Amino acid sequence: MAEHESLEFGKADFVLLDNVSLEEFMANLKLRFEKGRIYTYIGEVVVSVNPYRAMNIYGRDTIEQYKGRELYERPPHLFAIADAAYKAMKRRNKDTCIVISGESGAGKTEASKYIMQYIAAITNPGQRAEVERVKNMLLKSNCVLEAFGNAKTNRNDNSSRFGKYMDINFDFKGDPIGGHINNYLLEKSRVIFQQEGERSFHSFYQVCVCGLIVCSSINDTADFKAVADAMKVIGFTAEEIQTVYKILASILHLGNLRFGVDGDTTLIENPKVVELIGGLLATKEESVEKALLYRTVATGRDVIDKQHTAQEAGYGRDALAKAMYERMFCWIVGRINDVIEVKNYDAKVHGKNTVIGVLDIYGFEIFQNNSFEQFCINYCNEKLQQLFIQLVLTQEQEEYQREGIPWKHIDYFNNQVIVDLVELQHKGIFSVLDEACMNVGKVTDEVFLQGLNSKLAKHAHYTSRKLSPTDKSLEFDRDFRVRHYAGDVVYSVVGFIDKNKDTLFQDFKRLLYNSSNPVLKVMWPEGKLSITEVTKRPLTAATLFKNSMIALVENLACKEPYYVRCIKPNEVKSPLLFEQERCRHQVEYLGLLENVRVRRAGFANRQEYPRFLQRYKMISEFTWPNHDLRSDREAVKMLLQSCGLEHDVAYGKTKVFIRTPRTLFSLEEQRAEMV
Ligand code: ADP
Ligand code: MG
Repeated sequence: MAEHESLEFGKADFVLLDNVSLEEFMANLKLRFEKGRIYTYIGEVVVSVNPYRAMNIYGRDTIEQYKGRELYERPPHLFAIADAAYKAMKRRNKDTCIVISGESGAGKTEASKYIMQYIAAITNPGQRAEVERVKNMLLKSNCVLEAFGNAKTNRNDNSSRFGKYMDINFDFKGDPIGGHINNYLLEKSRVIFQQEGERSFHSFYQVCVCGLIVCSSINDTADFKAVADAMKVIGFTAEEIQTVYKILASILHLGNLRFGVDGDTTLIENPKVVELIGGLLATKEESVEKALLYRTVATGRDVIDKQHTAQEAGYGRDALAKAMYERMFCWIVGRINDVIEVKNYDAKVHGKNTVIGVLDIYGFEIFQNNSFEQFCINYCNEKLQQLFIQLVLTQEQEEYQREGIPWKHIDYFNNQVIVDLVELQHKGIFSVLDEACMNVGKVTDEVFLQGLNSKLAKHAHYTSRKLSPTDKSLEFDRDFRVRHYAGDVVYSVVGFIDKNKDTLFQDFKRLLYNSSNPVLKVMWPEGKLSITEVTKRPLTAATLFKNSMIALVENLACKEPYYVRCIKPNEVKSPLLFEQERCRHQVEYLGLLENVRVRRAGFANRQEYPRFLQRYKMISEFTWPNHDLRSDREAVKMLLQSCGLEHDVAYGKTKVFIRTPRTLFSLEEQRAEMV
């Protein structure tokens, strides 16, 4: 608890509030925001409010102030959390992770960058060239990923349209030796459609500064150069970079393609465009045309070319544009991973290589029109909230119970019921969706909705227009509503089936695989299969996403977690405006108040008795060099009594619980004097 800060800036830790009420919490948050104190703790959780202005708190001098310090020694800061995660990793050999959450525009990506900069700044005192190389790659990778994965939205001029989890690996000295990036669900529909006032991915405007929507806060020309340089530094070859530009250009040209009909024939109205695309993709013009207009199907032993209708052809063109972009994005991530992955590290020689993971993933989204993408994103947030509940709220309380520490249970909403609503086998929304997609005969969004209505009619967190006809929020027949932990969201089923099946005609895969550009070819390995070999139904988008979320949560759950909870103070990117209602809503759904309650009632630190003695026995004559008391528990009691720290601890069955970090700090100081 950072007590040295003057009270004129409010309480630096919400745990220190006189009363834990929403009113006091909000008053403190607002006061601190107005005084330019954008960070506040809840124990080891940092609550951050987006300042929407440049803050002079990330420089070299600030980094020095936080380096190697304990959390409560300095005013709350991201750097302190980064340092805590780093120390846990280095001192205790623990894998740690920093989970950054909050809604779009709340400041997650900026926070993740500051954290990485901090880690880069405090490591490698020996200036080893290889470590410097790795650090440089890790930092440069951000610039490339943002160019291809971020876009201007109405909420955020630089909104990440993909989820990102990055592992940084450290050697036994605590220096970065590599990393790995996992990316999640890129919002590829943006390639073909953007809402009013929004843009497609930055990369498109960078290659052809001809965007109709020029954004004042974005300099596409300068960014183009920065990205090209970063790609070179990372090790993309000239041919690879050229191919990326060619793919971007062909996607833009695809957008200009128009289909028409002449009698029974579907045709391309502007064949010149096909020629351009053929050239860019290093494929024959005729092959491009054929793939756009026909579909090869196997009927029994025969293979026939079936002509698309103009509508089908348009659908195919859009699917191709989206798939090419998504493939390219994943390929870029893969290439970055090739370069940053840990090499030449032998754990037997060098000791365990430890990890700090940083998760910057899309926050909860409620739009005017919510579709499959919002559904996936909000499910992701349910999963992360469940992890938070598991780690911070449940496990903590269970441990007190197990250890026999007197404890008043704290109530909170457990969102497992909503996680189940989405992901449960056979009964969950994803299962119903997959079933509807596999229907023989009619496969429509309405069939999916009927499935939901019949399976989930009684579910407390699900309803639809059909089930609640008088409900005003369900405007359209195709609407259904999920009661998320963060609030109610109405989804339209329109497009769910298509987006879930995510079909790309096999003809396109073969077309791109057969390109004479080797860089493009490797992005489409399954194009190798001939029409008769393709039998297995690919996994649906929902199943892939669900599996990736389950794996993510499993991965996070086995690491020591640190949390950054980001709050967006207003909708208009103003540095002055603290919109009370908006902020209150975020505080509520992030479960921050429950977090304070559990934390306040709880203990900052706990250690098993033998381990505690081992570390501190030199402090007291009763325990040094050995004690003759009945048990280690008794010995710890004597030790703590003798140094006057009794009042701040509780004795469990196997562990001693220390309420405030100050006590631990005092023990550390006394120990330092002895050794
Ligand atoms: P998110 O990733 O949560 O959607 P970002 O991290 O992209 O949000 O932040 C949105 C915008 O808010 C940034 O582009 C920047 O202008 C501003 N911002 C966020 N965090 C900070 C900060 N710590 N200091 C100054 N500006 C910030
Ligand atoms: Mg972001």
